[in-house]
Amino acid sequence: MYFCAELQIRHNFMVNNLSSCSYSHSSTQTQQGLAMIDGKQVSLFFQAKDQIIAVDNVSFEIQQGKTTAIIGESGSGKSTLLKLIYGLLEPNKGEIRYKGSIVPTRKDKLIPGHDAMKLVSQGFDDLNLYANVWDNVSSQLPNTNINLKHTKTQETLERLKIAHLAKQRIADLSGGEKQRVAIARALINKPEVLLMDEPFNQVDAAFRDALQQDISQIVEETGLTIILVSHDPTEVLAMSDELIVMKDAKIIEQGKPNTLYHQPKNAYTALLLAKSNIINAKQAKSISITTQQRIAIHQENIQFQIDPQGEFTLKNIRFRGFYNELIISNNIIDLHLIQFPPFSTTLGIKGHIQISKYIEVQV
Ligand code: ADP
Ligand code: MG
Repeated sequence: MYFCAELQIRHNFMVNNLSSCSYSHSSTQTQQGLAMIDGKQVSLFFQAKDQIIAVDNVSFEIQQGKTTAIIGESGSGKSTLLKLIYGLLEPNKGEIRYKGSIVPTRKDKLIPGHDAMKLVSQGFDDLNLYANVWDNVSSQLPNTNINLKHTKTQETLERLKIAHLAKQRIADLSGGEKQRVAIARALINKPEVLLMDEPFNQVDAAFRDALQQDISQIVEETGLTIILVSHDPTEVLAMSDELIVMKDAKIIEQGKPNTLYHQPKNAYTALLLAKSNIINAKQAKSISITTQQRIAIHQENIQFQIDPQGEFTLKNIRFRGFYNELIISNNIIDLHLIQFPPFSTTLGIKGHIQISKYIEVQV
């Protein structure tokens, strides 16, 4: 359940900023079309020493022309789900359909992977490190029409902004450039769906934004459908139209990034997307919140006001660049909050808090 609470932590203190509670829901409306990819009660087990349930009874829908991100902690089943969608793995239970037809798997076709999809896997496995960029990309096309092969390769390299690197060996490129080549290689045959597993992991932070924007532009221009696996909230919040949250092999939530950020149903989602403070009912009582269940308080929804009579003590300051993350304690709970703009504060100082919003969440 979602609350916009105006809490008066101290009687002489008025909360006046509720702007964070009045965000618009209109941008979160789902466009309900027929799903392009449809998974029903899909499970996959690995037979290791013990049986590992990598994907456990998940159902999901992927809409055409949208970017869907699968997010979850390491080992939650994200890569396995991506491989199931592509047809590299066959579900032990349930089914996955692409435009109504069951996705063929290794036993149904010689070359693994759905013909309408391309997977950019982790670690540039598909690139030939000792060949140049041009050859890595153009080798995806047949030699039946050399002129067309040349034009298409040039076009694709330009689209990914790597035409100037055409003659360079892959081994000499940066992580970001390699990733652009891997995507160019995947896109040259115009797949309908591009699957990417942690695509920005090996791209320097400074170049990530530009690559994300270029991918978003390609989506806009071509109507490409993207399924992206990530564990990085900034990535998925910026890029995706739809989010699938995985935990322990299950999908625990699916929805618009805006909705899942502001109204997560689970503590796990609130932590993953917002690094939220998760506190139990007893702890909540210590900050005058009456609730029967756990609550999530996003860091940006807590204000700390210096006051010698305050019940909270400043325990730690983490420099985060354009803001500080403060950790404060009332001896019952520690709370993390954002101090923006940052200003110099002394450890041990006392203060009271205002909370402009909290969310009741499931465990
Ligand atoms: P994620 O991508 O979210 O990190 P994975 O889908 O790679 O998670 O893995 C989910 C679970 O399945 C993990 O426990 C992992 O160890 C296990 N797993 C993945 N691939 C295999 C495999 N080929 N054989 C055995 N276990 C595997
Ligand atoms: Mg993975």
